[in-house]
Amino acid sequence: MGENREQETCCLENGAGVCGCTEDIPSRPYRMVLLGAPGAGKGTQAELLCEKLKTCHLSTGDVFRAVKCRDGKELSPAMKAALDFMQRGELIPDDTVIAMVRDRMSYLSCEYGFLLDGFPRTLYQAEALTEMLSSQALKLDAVLDYTLPPEEVIARLSGRRTCRSCRATFHVIHKPPRLQKICDKCGGELFQREDDRPESIRVRLEAYNRSTAPLTDYYSAKGLLLTISAEGSPEEIFNRTLLALKEKV
Ligand code: AMP
Repeated sequence: MGENREQETCCLENGAGVCGCTEDIPSRPYRMVLLGAPGAGKGTQAELLCEKLKTCHLSTGDVFRAVKCRDGKELSPAMKAALDFMQRGELIPDDTVIAMVRDRMSYLSCEYGFLLDGFPRTLYQAEALTEMLSSQALKLDAVLDYTLPPEEVIARLSGRRTCRSCRATFHVIHKPPRLQKICDKCGGELFQREDDRPESIRVRLEAYNRSTAPLTDYYSAKGLLLTISAEGSPEEIFNRTLLALKEKV
């Protein structure tokens, strides 16, 4: 996944995204979407799932954060506006996000399957995804919806710290790094994402409840929804996920 992220940065330089899967092709590709309030641990589960099932990971949040690291002068007005929305914790306009995913069609058609993390986030985006997939004669296998009470979401997000280099996440109380502000994995600097500050968390939760939560009905009607409790340790949640997938797929 680290390699994918490196690749992502150079793809952005080139203006288009190509997935970087190079391992042996899995015997069965899984095509999945992750849903769940911010802080439910989608990123951690995505990492565990990709490692186990060898799927290709596309996180729209990671792509926008990577864009943000570039020199501001190179950004288009639409992208600058998008990053302002992101900083406030608000959703980026649908058309900007959909255009970015369309540029990365190779992730969707990847023979390793894919795991979409953070997309779709609105009904309009979900319909665009359905259309993008059917244009490639592809079908989703499952939509994993991670559920967590709001007070637990706030506690998790406000204590989260992210590595600037490898994007690994820690928690000041539940998963502190060995050295303060230093990543255990790569020695990079840990920081608090702007949208993990309390004022942005509230806005993100409202946006989630208003725009993304209704997607559960959309995917439930298609028989794709798997609801998974996001309480407990990452390993417990992961085991629940694998069990749910085994029953469904
Ligand atoms: P995430 O890392 O998935 O929590 O995304 C971080 C931020 O990126 C969100 O709060 C939004 O501002 C923006 N973003 C990421 N994905 C989307 C999306 N599918 N639609 C709209 N905004 C998005």
